[in-house]
Amino acid sequence: MKRYKIACIPGDGIGKEVVPAGQQVLQALAEGGAGFAFEFRSFDWGGDFYRAHGRMMPEDGLEALRPMDAILFGSAGDPLIPDHVTLWGLRLKICQGFDQYANVRPTRILPGIDAPLKRCTPADLDWVIVRENSEGEYAGVGGRAHQGHPIEVATDVSMMTRAGVERIMRFAFRLAQSRPRKLLTVVTKSNAQRHAMVMWDEIALQVSREFPDVRWDKELVDACTARMVNRPASLDTLVATNLHADILSDLAAALAGSLGIAPTGNIDPERRYPSMFEPIHGSAFDIMGQGLANPVGTFWSCVMLLEHLGEAEAASRLMAAIESVTADPALHTRDLGGRATTAQVTEAVCARLRR
Ligand code: ATP
Ligand code: MG
Repeated sequence: MKRYKIACIPGDGIGKEVVPAGQQVLQALAEGGAGFAFEFRSFDWGGDFYRAHGRMMPEDGLEALRPMDAILFGSAGDPLIPDHVTLWGLRLKICQGFDQYANVRPTRILPGIDAPLKRCTPADLDWVIVRENSEGEYAGVGGRAHQGHPIEVATDVSMMTRAGVERIMRFAFRLAQSRPRKLLTVVTKSNAQRHAMVMWDEIALQVSREFPDVRWDKELVDACTARMVNRPASLDTLVATNLHADILSDLAAALAGSLGIAPTGNIDPERRYPSMFEPIHGSAFDIMGQGLANPVGTFWSCVMLLEHLGEAEAASRLMAAIESVTADPALHTRDLGGRATTAQVTEAVCARLRR
């Protein structure tokens, strides 16, 4: 029987609650006769590790992850450590070290979820946002000079390379092509950002010629936020830069009902390295340790993990179990207006998988 090696990195805050919940659900799926098994390996990296060792993960951490088939990640964030340290010291280190250049963020309104757009039915909102995950505004290029002086300067350079834009554009067109509507919106800001974003537009046009069956359009990122609210059904697959997609996908998650539900995959499409799957929410220290965390975002991330492993049937079984749980208001956590605990939601999904 096939055995998949899964690295589990709970990280900080509610990551420590939702990642073990995700593991339980995957285990239940395997025990329910999926025809494969999991070998989990947990890594205690994050804020506590930082306090003990002065870094978020060991120097040879990437080497330990490399032989894994996939990574399930929780969240990195600690109220006592600056955000840029936690982010760059762990999550981004893995994303960049493993060249996970495509960040894929599906959004749908799951059954039973009360979403804020009242005129919008679940059928109107079925999106996948593709976020460029390796360069752009978060390339880490820039610096500060004359710190603390009146003449201080600070820059964050949005660095885009032709190769980097081509590969994310091709990934997005291919993903759009694989979906029923074959519809791609290329998000841009080339009216104001007149160098890198103009190249982005040119490359979109060039790559589009390889995909004559994909309908595509361009939208400015500001206009795109309004379109997501006013005409959700006009969108299907979107591709945007690192910063733009970061913002659009939080909006998308909120429109789908809760930050606690939304999943994401940091993917190396060439499969040279393990890809990493995680809920989009952060460490949420305000609710940690109380059993209030909604594990659905992690479960949906497990669905993406299974799809990435090529286990499409198991992925649909898990998605069906998740949807049958969200459909029951008695199994909603507090962020959805309910009173169920993390453990109750997890057990309900596991029970459906064991049936
Ligand atoms: P970080 O600094 O790591 O991003 P954060 O404290 O900003 O973490 P987020 O995860 O971004 O927290 O979420 C903002 C708020 O949304 C949280 O404070 C929490 O109340 C709520 N929230 C987020 N995720 C969940 C979840 N899975 N279940 C329930 N509530 C959640
Ligand atoms: Mg946050």
